[in-house]
This record gives sequence, C-alpha cells and structure tokens, in this order.
Amino acid sequence: MSLEDIKDKFKEKREEMVNTQLIRRGLVDTNVLRAMRETPRHIFAGSGNSDNAYADMALDIGMHQTISQPYMVAVMTELLELSRSDKVLEIGTGSGYQAAVLSAIVSTVCTVERIESLAEDARRKFSDLGYKNISVKIADGTLGWLEESPFDKIIITAAAPDIPAPIIKQLAPRGIIVAPVGDRRAQSLLKLVKDGAHVTKTYHVPCIFVPLLGKYGWDS
Ligand code: SAH
Repeated sequence: MSLEDIKDKFKEKREEMVNTQLIRRGLVDTNVLRAMRETPRHIFAGSGNSDNAYADMALDIGMHQTISQPYMVAVMTELLELSRSDKVLEIGTGSGYQAAVLSAIVSTVCTVERIESLAEDARRKFSDLGYKNISVKIADGTLGWLEESPFDKIIITAAAPDIPAPIIKQLAPRGIIVAPVGDRRAQSLLKLVKDGAHVTKTYHVPCIFVPLLGKYGWDS
C-alpha cells in the first residue's frame, strides 16, 4: 500500500468525525478542520484501536497513557490560533497524533516525551508517514526545550498543577500556551496569552488528562 493509500484509508470516517464531532460542536478554524480531515489517526491509535480510531473518545496507547478524544485535540489546536509560520512546542508526544495535526498547519513542531518507547514509536511513525517538520526529544518536558526556544505557541497535553515556569520563559513575546491545568483528577483548558511582560489567562472546557510528571509537574 502506498503512503497516499494509507493516508486515504478511512477518509469518509474522518469526514464524518469532523462534521459530527467538531463542526457540530462549534469549531470553525478551517486549518484545524483540514488538519483533522487529513491526519491518519488510525495509524497513531495503533492496531489495537483500529475499530475506534475515529470514535468520539480517548484511546489507550499503552504505558498507562492515552490519545485524547478528537474534539479535545481540535479544541486545543484551535485555541492556539496557529499561523503557517509558527514554531510550536508540544509537551507529551504520546502517540504523536497531536504533533501530526499541528504539523499539517505550522512550519515547525518540536515535541518532548518522557517515556522512551512512546517517543521512539512516534518518531518511526513520523518518518514512515513522511512528516518532515517534527522533531522529537526524550526528556522531562516541564523544562521545555531551551535550545529550540523561543516558541510562538506551546501546547501541554498532560495535566499540570500549573504552567511550568521554564515553559513561560521559552514562549515568544506574543505567544500562546494551551494546557489542561487543575488537580490530578480534573482540569480545565487554560489559555495563556503573552503580550510583552503582560500575561492573560482564560479557562475553557473541562477535561481529564494523564498527569504531567517531572520537575515542574507532579512528583509521581
Ligand atoms: N499528545 C498525545 C497524548 C498525550 S498523553 C497524543 O496526541 O497522543 C500525555 C503524554 O505526556 C504521555 O505520553 C506522558 O508520558 C507524557 N508526559 C507526562 N509528563 C511528561 C513530561 N514531564 N515530559 C514529557 N512528556 C510527559
């Protein structure tokens, strides 16, 4: 099967996912809807999830980690207000699906994952599928990725007690961070907008993510 055939598989399911789960719930950013139509979630979800890859739910990807529900991926992506020229940092590569969605919209994606096997699997999928603008680093993402900073946009895809201080420092002067912030059991999506020295925070949809573990996250 060619790469295009692999990507084309389940095209109708993706179209239905976009119409019923995203547009019907109010998402409007045309770049986000296009990226969600294009990105082969079934590849990132893994063979054990092939029946549910486009269902309205989060999926288990092993190592006690999950790939977020399509709606949550799309909402977070829309809140980032992405432009083509953006350089984006993601903390929590997981399956690589969110990074792939971002990479269809922006110029550069840098993603950090603390679990080596997940990072390696995601790296292989990006390479097999021909994604050329995604770099993966195995590290504690609560420290950000200093060498690649500053970032126009930053997305944290694990639940944080607060936005780690190093990450705010690595955000460009007019950048945006989106992250699930709250306690370990329940969070809300926080959008932080930097405007020079000034920072504005707004809270959006309630959500439940696996914990962000590390120096500026939870201990264990
Ligand atoms: N964005 C992913 C889903 C993320 S699940 C996707 O699209 O599939 C949350 C991920 O965050 C898990 O893989 C977990 O291992 C990772 N994680 C938790 N704490 C981290 C940290 N400090 N640095 C990097 N990754 C972390």
